[in-house]
Amino acid sequence: MLLVLFRRGQCPETCSDARGRCPGILAHPSASDCGTVATPHGFFEEESELMSDTQLQAARAGDITPEMKSAAEREGLSSELIRREVAAGRMVIPANRVHLAGKLQPLAIGIAARCKINSNIGNSAVTSDVRGELEKLQTSIRYGADTVMDLSTGKSIDEIRAAIIADSPVPIGTVPMYQMLEELGGQIEDMRPQHFLDMVEHQARQGVDYMTVHCGLLREHLPLAVHRTTGIVSRGGSLIARWMMAHGKQNPLYEHFDDLCAVMRAYDVTWSLGDGLRPGCLADASDAAQFAELEVLGQLVQRSWANGTQAMVEGPGHIPMDQIEMNVRKQIEVCHGAPFYVLGPLVTDIAPGYDHITSAIGAAIAGWSGAAMLCYVTPKEHLGLPNNEDVKQGVIAYKIAAHAADVARRRPGARDRDDAISRARFAFDWNEQFRLALDPETARAYHDETLPQDGFKSAHFCSMCGPKYCSMGITENLRQLTVEAKPQASCEDGGARHAGS
Ligand code: SF4
Repeated sequence: MLLVLFRRGQCPETCSDARGRCPGILAHPSASDCGTVATPHGFFEEESELMSDTQLQAARAGDITPEMKSAAEREGLSSELIRREVAAGRMVIPANRVHLAGKLQPLAIGIAARCKINSNIGNSAVTSDVRGELEKLQTSIRYGADTVMDLSTGKSIDEIRAAIIADSPVPIGTVPMYQMLEELGGQIEDMRPQHFLDMVEHQARQGVDYMTVHCGLLREHLPLAVHRTTGIVSRGGSLIARWMMAHGKQNPLYEHFDDLCAVMRAYDVTWSLGDGLRPGCLADASDAAQFAELEVLGQLVQRSWANGTQAMVEGPGHIPMDQIEMNVRKQIEVCHGAPFYVLGPLVTDIAPGYDHITSAIGAAIAGWSGAAMLCYVTPKEHLGLPNNEDVKQGVIAYKIAAHAADVARRRPGARDRDDAISRARFAFDWNEQFRLALDPETARAYHDETLPQDGFKSAHFCSMCGPKYCSMGITENLRQLTVEAKPQASCEDGGARHAGS
C-alpha cells in the first residue's frame, strides 16, 4: 500500500473542496469504509517542504543542520558529534517543521546528551480546559521539563493542542490514538487503518514533534499478557489489543508502519515506539510479554531508519531496582542503540500518593544506566488527573533524577551547580543558595518559616541545629583557628628544627 503526498491543489482525488483543499481527514468516511488507505493530500504549500530531509537523512548525508548546531550549543558538545549520533540513530532531534517555524527551540535526546525529562499534561473527560493546560505547560517548562506530552482525552482537544504548540519552546509529543478514539465516539472496534493514518497526519500538520504509536504489540503477544497480575496497563496497548480481538486481525499500526513512516517523514515527526505491554506492577516486570514486544520494537527501529524517520523507544513501567540496569542494557542492545524513553520506572507498588518518589528512584537508576529521557510520574499517578501543583512536584522529582544520573555518568559540567550551591551553603549565602535551587520559592519559604527576617539571610546557622550546634559554623571557626595558628606553628616548627639541629 503506497502513501503518496501531494502539493496543495494538485490532489487528483475528487473530495477536495472548492479551494482545492482536503476537506479534513475524518471527513473521508468513504476512504475508510472501502478498506483501502487513501492518499493524504493537500498537505503542503511549497514543494521545498516536501523535499526537506529529516534530521536523520541530513545527518546521514553528512549535513549539519541548524537544529543540530542549536542542540550542540545547548549540550556543550560539538555539532559533528551531534550529527554522528543522529546519523547512527542513537540520538533524535524531535522538531516538526511546523513547530520549528514557531517557538520551538530544538534539543537532542540520546545517550550522548544530558538526560532529558518529559512531563505529561492534557485534560480528561472529567476535568481541565485550555487555560488549565497552558498553566501546566508553563509550570513544566519553568521547572525544567525538556519535552511535554499533550495526552488530552476530553473536550476541545484540537484547541488545547494548538494553544500548547503555539506557546511551547519545547518539543510536544502526543498519543494520536486518544484523539482518534474520541473522534470515533469511543468505539475502538470502528477504527480503520485510514482513521489512524489521518489522525497522525492531522496532528503532524498541527506541529506535534513526536508521537507514541503502539505498533509493536502483536496478536501473538496477547496470550502472554492475559494472566499477568495487572494485564495490559498501557491505554494505547489495551485499545489495540481490543481491536485485534474484535477483528481477529494483526495490529493495523504494525501492518501500516511504512505508511505511517511516510507521514512522519514529511513533517519530520519522531517516532516514540510505544510499549503497549509495559509491566504495570512489580509482579509483571521483565516478563515474556514485555520482552516479546521489545523484539518487535527493535525491528521497527530499523524500519523507521530505513524510511528516513527518527525513532526512540518507550520502556517500562514498574520494575524492581535490581532489574532496571538489565532492562536498559537489553533495550539498547535489542533496539540498536535507539534512545530509550522510560516511564519511571516505579520501584515499588505500595505508595499511591507518592509515586513521583517511587518512580524517580527508578528513573535515576535508569538514567544512570543509559536511558535518554525520563517520563515523569506525578503524586496523582493511579489516582487522578494531575493538577498544576502535581505537575510541579513531578517535574521537580524528575529533574532531580535526571540531574543525579548526569552527575553519576560524569557528563562534563554536570556537577557545576552542585558545587556552586555547596560553596554558597558553606558561606551561609542563603540568597545564593535559594537562587541555585531547583525550586527557589520553596527553599526560601522553608527558611522563612522560622527565620523570616532579612538579617537571617546571612546568619551563620539556621533553625535546624541553631547557632551553638551548627556544624558548618563550627567548621568555619576551625578553619579560622587553623589559619590563625599557622604563623605560630611555623615559628614553633622552625624553632624545633633549629633546636634539633
Ligand atoms: S544550623 Fe545545621 S542545617 Fe543549618 S546551616 Fe548550620 S549545619 Fe546546616
